[in-house]
Amino acid sequence: MELPPANRLEKLPPYLFADLRRKIAAKKAQGIKIISLGIGDPDLPTPQPIIDELIRSVVNPDDADRHRYGCDCPVADLPASIKGFYRRRYGVELDDSQIAVTSGSKDAIVQFCLGLLNPGDLGIAPQPGYPTYNIGHVFCSANTYYVPLRQSNGWLLDFREIPPETAQQAKLLWINYPNNPTTATAPLEFFRQAVEFGRRHNILICHDSAYSENTYDGYKSPSILEVPGAADAAVEFYSLSKGFSMTGWRAGCVVGNPAAIKALRLVKDNVDNGMLRAIQFAAAKALDNLETLTPPINAVYRRRRDLVVETLGQAGWPVEIPKATIYVWAPTPEKYRGSSAAFAEDLLEKAGVVVTPGRGYGVPGDGYYRISLTYPDAVIAEALERIRKLAGK
Ligand SMILES: *Cc1c(COP(=O)(O)O)cnc(C)c1O
Repeated sequence: MELPPANRLEKLPPYLFADLRRKIAAKKAQGIKIISLGIGDPDLPTPQPIIDELIRSVVNPDDADRHRYGCDCPVADLPASIKGFYRRRYGVELDDSQIAVTSGSKDAIVQFCLGLLNPGDLGIAPQPGYPTYNIGHVFCSANTYYVPLRQSNGWLLDFREIPPETAQQAKLLWINYPNNPTTATAPLEFFRQAVEFGRRHNILICHDSAYSENTYDGYKSPSILEVPGAADAAVEFYSLSKGFSMTGWRAGCVVGNPAAIKALRLVKDNVDNGMLRAIQFAAAKALDNLETLTPPINAVYRRRRDLVVETLGQAGWPVEIPKATIYVWAPTPEKYRGSSAAFAEDLLEKAGVVVTPGRGYGVPGDGYYRISLTYPDAVIAEALERIRKLAGK
């Protein structure tokens, strides 16, 4: 049977790691031992209290709804825990109309777009940046205007780079701090500017806070909702994936503008049937115990981060120490004339080490590469040893 896929699939960019996966498979087929520092997916196990809560709930015979659709049998504890978390962590009060529970942020970003964008609408996304914002637009036959992030501006989006006609047309603007892939963090003042820009141009500011808990050296990342009026001008995508080592669990929420939340909920009602109750209970447990559960995870990333930064420095390829995220974002060595793809290629060919070329996150990411800290210490150490040899140090 001839079955051409929908036209929209042709508009999707190639999956960021597809090419990488293919190259790794080819090397492995040649019997070469490849070490990957490419993908950002926590290797550390989910903390035990969260797992215990899942098990307690899933086997609890007193809960007659434990097997049912999560949307029909929501766990009241989860919105309560989300509220408690926003109150404790940011001093932000949320009400029920401002909260949508989601199965992670990636899904939520696309579903959110489906609820808000018409064909031909415009969304603004940063480059380098997480590819899913544009993918959400593509699924709605909407368009993306990319704003370059620049090292000279601390990788913060410069709102002056958005042309007036673009600002007038756009409906959504995506930002993400702590940032993937640049590891940059944003002060509250930046979020204030974002809210002000959004209000002036009637653009909803969509803040992706996927790395809000992966912070180091005493740094605490602010929420955009701390800005007065932001609960109307913005939404925040919160995810338990990276902070709690829960990527596979699919747990998160979107909070903020009630009309946007309502639209997202309507999409969700028609597309998925909510989260398993046990996962809802476990997510509530995680948020309630954030203060004790995340520091041990971050201690491990911090140790790995220091190892990477130190070794690259010794190799003559110095990098800045990131305050947040699970990555190191490093300038491509000069020898490769700033071509991150050429560097990543050489690293794979000559050293058997996989890193993500910044070019994969858009042209403005070229000249940098990303190392993920989500691999065991020994793996990272061996990869670094190989990198050091390639550098001739
Ligand atoms: C990992 C990641 C997410 C998505 O995480 P989920 O597992 O879908 O919640 C969202 N945004 C950025 C920038 C990410 O790196």
